[in-house]
Amino acid sequence: MGEISKDDVEKYLENNPQFAKEYYDKKLRAEVVGSVFKVNPGDVKDGISFKEMTKLEECQVLFELMMEIQEEASSVEKIVHKILQRLAQLLAADRCSMFIQRSRNGIPEVASRLMDVTPTSKYESNLVPPEKEVVFPLDIGIVGWVAHTKKVFNIPDVKKVSEKNNHFSDFVDKQTGYTTVNMLAAPIVSGKEVLAVFMVLNKQNASEFSKEDEDVSTDMKNAVVRRATRSNKLGSLSGLSIMLLWSANKVFEELTDIERQFHKALYTIRVYLNCERYSVGLLDMTKEKEFYDEWPIKLGEAEPYKGPKTPDGREVNFYKIIDYILHGKEEIKVIPSPPPDHWCLASGLPTYVAENGFICNMMNAPADEYFTFQKEAFDETGWIIKNVLSLPIVNKKEEIVGVATFYNRKDGKPFDEHDEQLTEMLTQFLGWSVLNTDTYDKMNKLENRKDIAQEMLMYQTKATAAEIQTILVSVSSLKQLIKILKEELPEPKDVELYEFRFSDFPVTEHELIKCGIRMFFEINVVEKFKVPAEVLTRWMYTVRKGYRDITYHNWRHGFNVGQTMFTLLMTGRIKKYYTDLEAFAMVSAAFCHDIDHRGTNNLYQMKSASPLARLHGSSILERHHLEYSKTLLQDESLNIFQNLNKRQYETVLHLFEVAIIATDLALYFKKRTMFQKIVDAIEKMEKEEEAIKYISMDPTKKEVIMAMMMTGCDLSAITKPWEVQSKVAIMVANEFWEQGDLERTVLQQQPIPMMDRNKGEELPKLQVGFIDFVCTFVYKEFSRFHKEITPMFDGLQNNRVEWKSRADVYEEKMKKIEEEKKRQEEEAAKKG
Ligand SMILES: [Zn+2]
Repeated sequence: MGEISKDDVEKYLENNPQFAKEYYDKKLRAEVVGSVFKVNPGDVKDGISFKEMTKLEECQVLFELMMEIQEEASSVEKIVHKILQRLAQLLAADRCSMFIQRSRNGIPEVASRLMDVTPTSKYESNLVPPEKEVVFPLDIGIVGWVAHTKKVFNIPDVKKVSEKNNHFSDFVDKQTGYTTVNMLAAPIVSGKEVLAVFMVLNKQNASEFSKEDEDVSTDMKNAVVRRATRSNKLGSLSGLSIMLLWSANKVFEELTDIERQFHKALYTIRVYLNCERYSVGLLDMTKEKEFYDEWPIKLGEAEPYKGPKTPDGREVNFYKIIDYILHGKEEIKVIPSPPPDHWCLASGLPTYVAENGFICNMMNAPADEYFTFQKEAFDETGWIIKNVLSLPIVNKKEEIVGVATFYNRKDGKPFDEHDEQLTEMLTQFLGWSVLNTDTYDKMNKLENRKDIAQEMLMYQTKATAAEIQTILVSVSSLKQLIKILKEELPEPKDVELYEFRFSDFPVTEHELIKCGIRMFFEINVVEKFKVPAEVLTRWMYTVRKGYRDITYHNWRHGFNVGQTMFTLLMTGRIKKYYTDLEAFAMVSAAFCHDIDHRGTNNLYQMKSASPLARLHGSSILERHHLEYSKTLLQDESLNIFQNLNKRQYETVLHLFEVAIIATDLALYFKKRTMFQKIVDAIEKMEKEEEAIKYISMDPTKKEVIMAMMMTGCDLSAITKPWEVQSKVAIMVANEFWEQGDLERTVLQQQPIPMMDRNKGEELPKLQVGFIDFVCTFVYKEFSRFHKEITPMFDGLQNNRVEWKSRADVYEEKMKKIEEEKKRQEEEAAKKG
């Protein structure tokens, strides 16, 4: 497939509206994506209600605000100015103002700080200089009254004197010549104190402000202002709130790595903390374990987790600790995977906080009986723990993302209520920053998905009617179709479909599609599960087209893995442990297992920061192959499982996941002893029925065996007759070398020997190593499991002999060269 232009994709989408619609509906929610990335809040005209905005849009607005904060983290007034502008815009108000509350000689008053803010007005002209302040005592004017009552006032008509608005003062109007018609005023409250009052004047597109408008103003305030101003008066900003904003600035410098953000924020605040040391434990956020991590527990080889859990049900697992030492010389330590007896965790306090979400303030901590703090000095500086304040870091979803623990107030006193408030604010802020990363991550993920979707579209390759006709000659009744199809398909004997030694070399790629379809008939699933012949043909053809034309991980490899799975089940007689449905899923998953492979491995995806790597944390490519396969099935005209019931369909999807993810060789070492134990147990059994019962009754054992079968299929080229293996090995090597070239040119890195074409002569040696280190175990255990599979092990051993002799020749050659070099050097030395 050649270069595909934007126009081609557009044309494709236009010609296939159903595909485009379904794809975007399911995968992307295009409108949301569009609004997240394209909506410029400046474009919002005439005030839309907050309700009309999606959650993501709301995030976007807040996110932008934070970005603006980053740009000019100078003064709170400037930020509030932006907020007022946004408020005026969202509420379709003529203008907004902000008054601060303060006290003079013990008497509270409100003073104008920002006046007449419109969506476009300049900050400089809105900021009220001290000599032009308008000051109200709390008993005159709406603003003062709002400050006094701490309530939101929505006044539809200021002229109508009523109970509600008899506080309105036209003092300012008279001074400025402005006419206030209606207004909305809301206090900004921190604890029991009113910090400021927002005033929104004259609704433009309605006769008065609505209830929703009141909510919007509350939302806006809560979202940003509270965090910036809590426990601080807007009028007399302490260093802390400025610092907080500044650390927000730092937080947003890099938005990819949560930990780095945590660190930046924490590092920035260190000078404001009145303590000698503090540590932050970061909690693992994964809720569900990967299936392969569940296996040892399900097989009874590992104890299930009985330890403490977070309120939302996660295992309490501190995967990293950042330790800030502020006494004496400043130092920061990062402890990845801290052991449970690490002093930060050994007391049990962080775990307790993670479990319960409480704030714990402990005087004379070492004397505590419940928590066991280290009593002696930590190092030669003689630092010891005296007082401890520990609290959870909670994100907006109310999940505890970490625990911050502060040690020893600098003045030697115990931590007090003020410290609790301060640190709570800090941890809230941290949680908030993590939330934003979350949001950003989500947008990023959507963005990446979009990239990948586009890539998929370019390669998107649903088989056309004409293509299907090359296999399924005519269209008639279902039974008829199956009959026609069967006649068109190759005879298994002719191509040795049931043989482990099967070679795809004599078969064309198109014929391989037919062979693939044939296998589903051979395992009797087409009629049993009512797979429409046309759908089966279209799916198989589309899978073929889903493979890119790359050197090794192409359709031929995909087919070979499917064929080996089929042969292991049938000729290898492993089918007896599995249901027809499971066998159906296993063969299908095997065909799909490398679909849309790019010819580079997972490490390369990571190093090149490909969109795939940003989307998937582990088993990057395998997760993509899985996603791709599942996407195909979402199209009913490709869904070979369309006539299954819900439970059956879910079983199939689960098996797809296990089978395809299992082809990640990084997981191979996790499963091999589990597989070996099953084989050991089977070997001791005398009756076949016993073995069948032992395995087929236990879904976990079936999964482990299936996962190992996938590895056996994926590596099966190493077991083929030497003429086949030697050719395939060169193909694999070529693909590796191409990646090595990319690493050199694109990443500017030296590739490992396996991928370095300059070390091509080492191939036989590498093959021997690969056979010894990985393959021998697989095929030895399989031939022990079922003697019918021994041909694979025999083939492997034969190939090892071949590779070894070539490796020896190479080694001999190198030895000779080395000796010759040495001899020449000695001669040169003699002469010299
Ligand atoms: Zn593969």
